[in-house]
Amino acid sequence: MEEPFYKDGLHFECQRCSGCCRFDAGYVFLSHSDLEKLSQKLSMTQDDFLEKYCVKVDTGGDFRISLIEKENFDCIFWRDGGCAVYDARPLQCRSFPFWAPYMESKEAWDNLASSCPGVNKGKLHTREEIEEWLVSRKRERLITI
Ligand code: SF4
Ligand code: SF4
Repeated sequence: MEEPFYKDGLHFECQRCSGCCRFDAGYVFLSHSDLEKLSQKLSMTQDDFLEKYCVKVDTGGDFRISLIEKENFDCIFWRDGGCAVYDARPLQCRSFPFWAPYMESKEAWDNLASSCPGVNKGKLHTREEIEEWLVSRKRERLITI
């Protein structure tokens, strides 16, 4: 079997440009575990959290639950220069940039550098770490309706 292009690991270190939390429209889909952690973090019931901070998204097959955005497309939890729920942030956020589409090829990974200045910089993340993120995302039980 062919080795993945990231067999020797990949360099990535967040440069705190905030680009992946702000400015552009997008979705942060929540799993059951994300919902539990976030609602606990904010001392809310899961129903109240869903009502206040989430939106139902038609993904063309099922409906998922995403965090809402502010009018300027910043994530609802982007506050005072950072993530207000950092230690309880969703797996989608924690696992970035080691997402399956970016791990498909070196080209896909290098292309990501145009929107994420942390790509190919700083800390070396091993193949094992990267594969742990990929497995976590695969096993994630997203909330679907
Ligand atoms: S786009 Fe990349 S460098 Fe910028 S905040 Fe997100 S992860 Fe960090
Ligand atoms: S939850 Fe936090 S890390 Fe995730 S997009 Fe929102 S502000 Fe960024």
